[in-house]
Amino acid sequence: MTDNLYLSTLQEFDKTIRHLHLKAGIIAYLRSPKRELTVNFPVEMDDGSVRLFTGYRVHHNTALGPTKGGIRYHPSVTLDEVRALAMRMTWKCAVVGLPYGGAKGGVICDPKTLSIRELENLTRRYATEIAILMNPQGDIPAPDMGTGEREMAWIMDTYSMHHGYSVPAVVTGKPLAIGGSLGRAEATGRGVVLTTLEALKQTNIPVEGARVVLQGFGKVGAPAAYLIEEHGAKVIAVSDESGGVYSAHGLNTRDLLAYAKTQGTVVGYPGTESISNADLFALPCEVLMPCALASQITAANASRVQAKIIAEGANGPLTPEADEILLERGVFIIPDILCNAGGVTVSYFEWVQDLQSFFWGEEEINERLRQILVRSFQHVLHMAQEKHVDLRTAAQILAIQRVAEAMEIRGIYP
Ligand code: GLU
Repeated sequence: MTDNLYLSTLQEFDKTIRHLHLKAGIIAYLRSPKRELTVNFPVEMDDGSVRLFTGYRVHHNTALGPTKGGIRYHPSVTLDEVRALAMRMTWKCAVVGLPYGGAKGGVICDPKTLSIRELENLTRRYATEIAILMNPQGDIPAPDMGTGEREMAWIMDTYSMHHGYSVPAVVTGKPLAIGGSLGRAEATGRGVVLTTLEALKQTNIPVEGARVVLQGFGKVGAPAAYLIEEHGAKVIAVSDESGGVYSAHGLNTRDLLAYAKTQGTVVGYPGTESISNADLFALPCEVLMPCALASQITAANASRVQAKIIAEGANGPLTPEADEILLERGVFIIPDILCNAGGVTVSYFEWVQDLQSFFWGEEEINERLRQILVRSFQHVLHMAQEKHVDLRTAAQILAIQRVAEAMEIRGIYP
C-alpha cells in the first residue's frame, strides 16, 4: 500500500504543477525520486544474537546542489514515507533559497527498545551501508525523528574512520564539540516561531497573550513553546506521546521542559489538567502548532479545530482533506516546508562553517536565520497573492520554479 504521506505529497505536487508551465518530461522527473537505496544489514545485539534491520536513503533531486535531509529511526518507516520526505526536502530547501536538493533516510526500528550500544552498532553499520551515497559534496544527512546529536556524532566518526581523517561536513546536527553549530538545536523551533510571528502580523493578532496549543514537545515543539512564550504568547496546552496537559492561565514551558526531562513526559505536571490529543486539537486558541507526526489533522478532526493560525512544525501534519476544510474556514496555515525550514537552514550554516573551519557566533546565526525566514515568508505571501492560491501551493510554486529553472539552465545530459 502506498504510504499516506507519499500520496498527499504527490497530491500537493499535482495541485501545484497546474500553475506552472513545465514540459511533461520535466514534471515526470520532478515527481520521481532521483535515486533510492534500500539496505538490509545485520546488527549484533547485547545478548549476542544478530538482528537484521532495513534502512533507506533516497535522493529526490540534485539540480540545486548536494542533497540534504534527515535520518529517521521509527517503527513505521517505509520506503514511501522516505520518498515523500525526500521530495518535501527538495521543496523546503528551494523555498528558503538553500543550495541543496532533497534527501531523506530512515531505519525501521524502535530506538526506545534498543540499548545505547545496540543503537551505536546500528548507526555505524547503517552509515557504512549508505556511504555509497553520502559525502560532504553529495549528500549530507542530519537528525530527524528518533535521531539526534549522538547519532550524528557516530555517523561523522564512522565516515571519518573510513577516510583516515575527520570529515565534520558529512553530517549536520552534530554536537558543538565536533563541528556542530550554535543555534542548531533550537533552529527548527525558532523557525516555527519566526514564521508564526509573521503570520500573527498578517492576521492582525497581537502576540502578547495569544493562546498557543502544541502537539509534540520534542526537538521542535519544546523550543517553539519557550521561544514563543518569550514573545509574550500564552502556551495553554502541550502534549507528547503519553498524553497532554492544559492550563487556561498558560504553562511555564521552560519549567515544563525541566519536568518532562526528569519524568519522561509532560503528563502530571503540577497545576494542570490532563487533556487528550483529540481535545487538544479542539481547544479555542490563536495558534495551533502540530510538531509531532504526519497526518495528525485529518478530515475526521479538522472541523473541530478552532485555531486562527496553524504552524506546521512537523512534516505533513495535515492531510490534503484537512487542508481543504481549514482553508475553506479561512485558517492561516503556514506550510511545513516554510514553517519548519529553520532546522535545515541552520544545518546549511553548520555545513558552511565546517567546510570553512571557521565558526560563527550565535547572534549572527540567529539573525541570518531570521532574515532568511522572514524574506521567504514574504516571497510566499506575494506568490499567494499574485496567483490567488493558498500559502502551501504558493510555497511549492516558488520551490518548483527554482528547481525547474536550475534544471533548464543546466540542460539535460548528455
Ligand atoms: N530533518 C529535518 C527536516 O525535516 C532537518 C534536515 C536537515 O537539517 O538537513 O527538515
